[in-house]
Amino acid sequence: MADRPVVVRIAPSPTGDPHVGTAYIALFNYAFAKQRGGKFILRIEDTDRTRSTKASEDMILASLRWLGFSWDEGPDVGGPNASYRQSERLDIYRHHVDTLVARGEAYWCTCAAERLDGVRKEQMARKENPGYDGRCRFRDPAEIKAERERGVAAVVRLKVPRGGDDPKKGNDGKAEPVKVRFTDLLRGELEFDTREIDDQVLLKSDGFPTYHLANIVDDHLMGVTHVMRGEEWISSTPKHVLLYQAYGWQAPAFAHLPLLRNADKSKVSKRKNPVSLSWFKEAGYFPDAMINFLGMMAFTFEDGREIFTLADFVQGFKLERVVLGGPVFDLKKLLWLNGRYLREQRSDEELVGYLQERLFSADYLKRVVSVVKERFEKSEDLIEYAPYFFTGTVSPAPEDLLVKSRSKKESMAIWEALAEKVDTQQDFSGPRVEELLNAFLAEKGLSAKELFMPLRWLVTGKKATPPLHDTMAVLGRERVRTRIRAGLAALHVLQEKPQPTT
Ligand code: GLU
Repeated sequence: MADRPVVVRIAPSPTGDPHVGTAYIALFNYAFAKQRGGKFILRIEDTDRTRSTKASEDMILASLRWLGFSWDEGPDVGGPNASYRQSERLDIYRHHVDTLVARGEAYWCTCAAERLDGVRKEQMARKENPGYDGRCRFRDPAEIKAERERGVAAVVRLKVPRGGDDPKKGNDGKAEPVKVRFTDLLRGELEFDTREIDDQVLLKSDGFPTYHLANIVDDHLMGVTHVMRGEEWISSTPKHVLLYQAYGWQAPAFAHLPLLRNADKSKVSKRKNPVSLSWFKEAGYFPDAMINFLGMMAFTFEDGREIFTLADFVQGFKLERVVLGGPVFDLKKLLWLNGRYLREQRSDEELVGYLQERLFSADYLKRVVSVVKERFEKSEDLIEYAPYFFTGTVSPAPEDLLVKSRSKKESMAIWEALAEKVDTQQDFSGPRVEELLNAFLAEKGLSAKELFMPLRWLVTGKKATPPLHDTMAVLGRERVRTRIRAGLAALHVLQEKPQPTT
C-alpha cells in the first residue's frame, strides 16, 4: 500500500441537514489527500431508503462547496467509478453478495422478525448479549432456497468466524475465541472478540445492501487507501475487517477522528447547539472562519497559530498531531473567530457586500415588504415595527411562551414537537408553513388562538405581526428553529407560578 497514491473519501448519508461533523471529517480527509497529491472522493451513502432524500444530498454538496471544498470524484462531477450514489449501485452489491455466498462466507437467512424477537427476548432473560443465534447458518441451503422461491423474505448474513465458547452461534471448531485486529493510525492496534459481533446482515430483504457491505465494496472498488472517519464508527470497523478478509481484499488504513462535543462533553447534537451548515451560512458566519474553526478541532499547528486558511491547513496538517481528547465545538470561540475575520480579513467594501447579501438584499427586502407594507408609513418605521426580520434572536418574556392553559412542561413538549416538524420541513414557503401549522394544530388538539399567540412571541418577540405563516416563511426555517430552541431554553429556566388553589 505504501506506494499506492492516497485515495480518501467522505461518505455522508443524505438524511437531513448538512452536519458540521461532515465538514470537519471532510477537512481532515481533504488535507490529507491534497498534501500527498492524492484523490478526495465524495460518495453519497443513501441506502437508508426511508430517510435519504435528494434535497438533503443537494444541501450537503452545496454546503461543502460553500466552505471551499472540491472533490475529484463525486455524484455531481462523475469519475471512473460512477455512480457515486449507492442507491444506483445495487447490481454491484448484489453481485458481490452472491460471490460471498458462493465462497461460503455468507448465507441466506429466512428467519422472520417474530422469531428474531423471540430469540432476543430469551437472550436478554438469560442476560446474554442479544444477537442472531445462527439458525440459518446451519440449515440445509437447499431448504432455504426453496423457501425463498416460495417468496419467503430473506436477507444475507456474514458468517462471522466463531470460536471459544460461542457454540450457539456456531463454533467453527476453534478452541480459542476468534479475535479481529486492526491498526488505527491514531490509536494503535485495536482488538475485538467475534463473540461480540453478530452475523451481520449484508443484504436486506428489499435488495438494498446494509451500510457495512456497501461501504466496504465501494471503498475497495474506488481504491480507497485511508478511511478517516468519526470515532462513532470504530465498532463497525472489525465488521469491515472481517468483510475484507472474507473477500480476500487488502483493507485500507483506518483513522478514527474524535467526535465534536458540547462543553459538557456530550456528542454535538441539534438539541443543544446548531449543527447544520445551512444554519451557520444563514446566520452570517464566514466560510473561511468556519474552516479555520473546524481545523482547530483535534489539531494544533506546531507554531501555535490560530488564524489559518484552507490552503495553510492542507500544507501544515499532520496526522500525528491529531489530539484525541473530545474537541469542544465551542460556539463562543467560533463567534470570536468570525469577528476576527470580519475585522481583519474583510475590507469595508466587502463588509457592505456581505451585509447587503445577508440582510438587505433586494430579494429579501422584497419579501419583507410584501408582508409588512400594510403596516408602516415611512422607512424608519419598518425597523421599529418589524426588527425581527433583521436580528438573529428575539427576546420575548418567557411567560409569554406558555401555551394557553398548558403547564410549562406541556408547553415545552409542544415547542419541542414543533421544532421537530420545522427541522424536517425543507420547503418553507408561506403555503407550506401554513399547512404545517394547521396539521400541527390538529395533531395537538390546539386552537389557532391557543398556539399562535405564544408562537408569535416565540418567533418574533412581538405581540402583533403580519400573518404568522407568512412571517415565518420570510424569516426562514433556520431563524425560526433557532428561535424555537432559544424559547425552549428560556422556558427551561422559568420558575413556574404555583397553580392558584380554589
Ligand atoms: N455513511 C456514513 C456516514 O454517514 C459513512 C461512515 C464512513 O465513513 O464509513 O457518516
